[in-house]
Amino acid sequence: MGTTAEAVLYNFQKKRENGLNLKAMDAEQLREHGHKMVDFIADYYKNIESFPVLSQVEPGYLQKLLPDSAPVQPESLQAVLQEVQTKILPGVTHWQSPDYFAYFPSNSSVAGFLGEMLSAGINMVGFSWITSPAATELEMIVLDWLANLLKLPNDFLSKGPGGGAIQGTASEALLVVLLAARDKVLREVGKDALGRLVVYGSDQTHSSLQKACQIAGIHPENLRLLTTEPCNEYALSPASLTDAISHDVASGLIPLFLCASVGTTSSTAVDPLLALGKITKKYGIWFHVDAAYAGSACICPEYRHHLNGIEEADSFNMNCHKWFLTNFDCSALWIKDRNALIQSLSTNPEYLKNKASQGSTVIDYKDWQIPLGRRFRSLKLWMVLRLYGVENLQSYIRNHIKLAQQFEDLVAQDTRFEIVATRTFSLVCFRLLPANKNEEYTNKLNRDLLDAVNSSGKIFISHTVLSGKYILRFVVGAPLTEERHIIAAWKLFQETASSLLHNS
Ligand SMILES: *Cc1c(COP(=O)(O)O)cnc(C)c1O
Repeated sequence: MGTTAEAVLYNFQKKRENGLNLKAMDAEQLREHGHKMVDFIADYYKNIESFPVLSQVEPGYLQKLLPDSAPVQPESLQAVLQEVQTKILPGVTHWQSPDYFAYFPSNSSVAGFLGEMLSAGINMVGFSWITSPAATELEMIVLDWLANLLKLPNDFLSKGPGGGAIQGTASEALLVVLLAARDKVLREVGKDALGRLVVYGSDQTHSSLQKACQIAGIHPENLRLLTTEPCNEYALSPASLTDAISHDVASGLIPLFLCASVGTTSSTAVDPLLALGKITKKYGIWFHVDAAYAGSACICPEYRHHLNGIEEADSFNMNCHKWFLTNFDCSALWIKDRNALIQSLSTNPEYLKNKASQGSTVIDYKDWQIPLGRRFRSLKLWMVLRLYGVENLQSYIRNHIKLAQQFEDLVAQDTRFEIVATRTFSLVCFRLLPANKNEEYTNKLNRDLLDAVNSSGKIFISHTVLSGKYILRFVVGAPLTEERHIIAAWKLFQETASSLLHNS
């Protein structure tokens, strides 16, 4: 390679050859590699109990293991999978492990996985009806199915002025309905009123409400996170909402939005929807219900009462990617007045114009969400509903609740422990309660207990703080969890507690 000109020519030819060699979507290669990948993933699930549930790596571990730049020449799938095994999986926290009891579950399932695979395979971008009519229409249909399963009022169905849409997460769902509510009111009272709009929730409402307010330009001092009480199981009290609203109205502020929860993140508290809804009606406040985790349970008749009063709501959200066997992400949002959403979020640039959209006979989901592009996520939910059927899904939920109850019974039988909040679904809130010790010491003891069980790699749990108490959260909800995992987890708590108490 003598001159620079020769080097340039050589590189150009090399690039051309590689470009020609690259068959990025070759059907036969997909078949071969796809089978290998499915085998790899099936083996992962087969061996999932052999990994520490919580990844035990140190921050920055991967930088030390991987090169500084991408490979110039292609590498084999086998080489990549080898590195997944040795370098990536050690840095994975295994949310699908049967010994995963942290936060809330994020279910995968064969049906959800197959739907994800099909969606990746088709890989369309369904922002307008015309970009893939099936994507829009299947989404409308499965969300109507799910709405019926949850016995949501007909106003939420796509046949009327409302309807459902799949969002990425509960946080996005909350943000878009807050924007819809905000703009609806500002259209009436004028844009200058933004600083006077007030949003209500409780001190147990998910932090996504605060984030949504930040993004929507709600004045930070106009977010009311009303205090809840342990005697009330941390549910939002209608009286405190009325008081807050009256006070705000008297101060010349404009009550805008209430986010109530069915199943709060800390303790799965359920806010009294009917009473709260009556108040929002009276003051013309947008009423959103966040049932991100617990919504799934409401497909069982015996848990449906937690949604009583949902007919008062303007919007409702449940994460199918939590406890409904649909691989992340799939967050179902229903709204009664889809025009409110569309008026906030629609754009109509020339390059997206088409006959169907102009004719207003179709739904263009781009106007229901923040991004333009959207995946064919309804395939996953459709697969789950069809391949499992309602009865199996109900049994699935009931089984987790039964296992949680079993865990709760075990905790209750050990006098060294205390159940801290009444269990409603599959979350047990508990703590170690040493005799004659102050709160500060008790909190430290429970932090130590959490650290010890999590760093054992045998299980993974998370915590919360309620009324100043550091509390352990044990959530049953992983698809592979069985009775033996509950019993082993409880044994681990008992043994770890014994050694902590012995050494203190
Ligand atoms: C998990 C959860 C959320 C947030 O969920 P994302 O989908 O991750 O945004 C919001 N509210 C409640 C009650 C939750 O449990």
